Amino acid sequence: MHEYSLAHALLDGLTEHLRHHPVPGRVRAVHVRKGELLILSEEALAEAWRILSQGTAVDGSDLRIENVPVKVKCPQCGYEGPVKYMSEEGWHFAVPVLACPRCAGRADVIEGRDLAIVGLSVDEVPQDP
Ligand SMILES: [Zn+2]
Repeated sequence: MHEYSLAHALLDGLTEHLRHHPVPGRVRAVHVRKGELLILSEEALAEAWRILSQGTAVDGSDLRIENVPVKVKCPQCGYEGPVKYMSEEGWHFAVPVLACPRCAGRADVIEGRDLAIVGLSVDEVPQDP
């Protein structure tokens, strides 16, 4: 399952990071940014996280997912920024158009495809003397 391998990769990276940079307390939440081109179920990802994090340094933490809009860079005219969205009557969502909004050339996606950890919320635990 797609969400499981993503959760697994996130968890691997995070536990490795925490081994070198321990935090002073319990990790309550892990904040991630999800590109809007990355198709996944947030519920399935959170569920995978809950199961896979058991017994790790972030056991019991919640995954907080923030959606990141697509950003492109155009090799023809140098435009860099958000794209236009296409939406039709009856659609429940808008679809990003992966072309340069300035010159309509083919643009490269520079943001919006990835899943990345951007921060942690930590409950600080008073240290024993
Ligand atoms: Zn352009």
